[in-house]
Amino acid sequence: MHDIKLELYDSNLGKKIPFEPNDRNQVKIYSCGPTVYNYSHLGNLRSYIFVDALRRTIKLFGYQPDQSMNITDIDDKIIRESISQNISIEEFTKPWTEKFFADLETLNIEKLEHYPKATESIDDMMHIIERLEDQGMTYEKDGNIYFSIGKFREYGSLSKIDTSGMISGARYDADEYEKENVRDFVLWKAPKEEGEKFWNTKKGKGRPGWHLECSAMIRKVYQSGVDIHTGGIDLLFPHHENEVAQSKGAYPKEEFVKYWLHCEHLLVEGQKMSKSKGNFYILSDIIGKGYNWKAIRYVLLSFHYRTKLNFSFDRLEEAKISIEKIQNTLNRLLELSFEKKIAIPEPLKSQSDFLNRIPVSVAKEAYHEMLKGLADDINSPKVLASVFENIKILNSKLDRDELSSEDILDYLLYFRAIDSFLGIFEFKRENQSSIAADQESYILSKIAERKKAKLDRDFKLADSIRDDLKSQGIILEDSKDGSVKWKIDK
Ligand code: AMP
Ligand code: ZN
Repeated sequence: MHDIKLELYDSNLGKKIPFEPNDRNQVKIYSCGPTVYNYSHLGNLRSYIFVDALRRTIKLFGYQPDQSMNITDIDDKIIRESISQNISIEEFTKPWTEKFFADLETLNIEKLEHYPKATESIDDMMHIIERLEDQGMTYEKDGNIYFSIGKFREYGSLSKIDTSGMISGARYDADEYEKENVRDFVLWKAPKEEGEKFWNTKKGKGRPGWHLECSAMIRKVYQSGVDIHTGGIDLLFPHHENEVAQSKGAYPKEEFVKYWLHCEHLLVEGQKMSKSKGNFYILSDIIGKGYNWKAIRYVLLSFHYRTKLNFSFDRLEEAKISIEKIQNTLNRLLELSFEKKIAIPEPLKSQSDFLNRIPVSVAKEAYHEMLKGLADDINSPKVLASVFENIKILNSKLDRDELSSEDILDYLLYFRAIDSFLGIFEFKRENQSSIAADQESYILSKIAERKKAKLDRDFKLADSIRDDLKSQGIILEDSKDGSVKWKIDK
């Protein structure tokens, strides 16, 4: 074990504070997810990658996450689109939900424990409305039910919004609105348009307001508040402010959220990437241009989540080179482990893996540097800088052939730890999996013989070993860094 303590930046307090969840074996995290009415653009994906980075970080620190991301499958936009296409909202949202999950898989974003859907949480919404009614915080107008923000003393405290100019009793019905429109917001909406989806409830016919959905889904999944709540920075007001009002209004004695984390925007030429501005890229556009998902994941992870990130294709090119640098060093280590008959350690999975299967000797310092970067509010650029420093050191150790078997295993565990965060590296030796073990050791002994012949400057012998192997269908490849790879001639 190490004694490095994780700190996270809490948007509510406006500073970094030590992370102390209520139960280290069940860290409850809720993240605002997609509204499934269109493709996710790269900006949306940045916020999901952030959720993944948070998950992977807390696992590296030995915590067990119990995480949710909601699927907003009913809101103003969804209703509008399904009516105009003359299909039910279920038919309309299903393919978009599938596309969302496919994108997560493409980017190697880990699966969470829960993906609650708004349309499956109507009873939980009713329950919150009833509790708010009991507290006298709601009122009805034209079949809609509103939250009266004047009745909730702390309104505005999360987003630090100025409520002084607020007009008592003024309302706002749209799901999304700006700071200038700080008003009573709608919890439950009576159906308006012909063909609009509604639920028949004891509060009358209607459908939920967007803000109520998240408060209800948190309750549905956890029957309590959460340790961490995340979302894009654009959700701080009004969405998260309204969630606080609803949840604390309904359950005044309970803690709702211990740490609020917000991810900054992805920009294009200085402007927020968004569907409404039309300045967005979707994943398949970028992959269609020949870029690998790894480069996309790397770019999104290589900037700190609280800084704005200007997207460009040059960044993807740079990312590709950076990934190759790290992977090449890892490949050298893998080759060496093969020569020395050291098994490649399995990926870290369980809580005990993250606590116990860690570097303890030559790579310990490198591993601690990585953790220190993550401990500093998931400072991924700091982590990457330390990785590059350490692979430089490792490469020179490899050049000098000074790694013992224990050292090799220790470094392999270091790479496993790095990849538990980055999630982009390959841990297999190319083309070697289909070969029997005795055949492998034969080839390796021939490679070693050839290496020695070269050192003795007996190039004739070195060439004949290579040609001999070739006649048996084994091709040797000399890399610039001095290592030798082999593959089966096809
Ligand atoms: P939506 O599907 O629009 O509700 O957004 C899903 C998530 O993506 C939310 O957490 C938003 O805050 C986030 N988001 C939207 N646009 C961007 C952007 N350009 N950069 C980062 N996050 C974004
Ligand atoms: Zn939400």
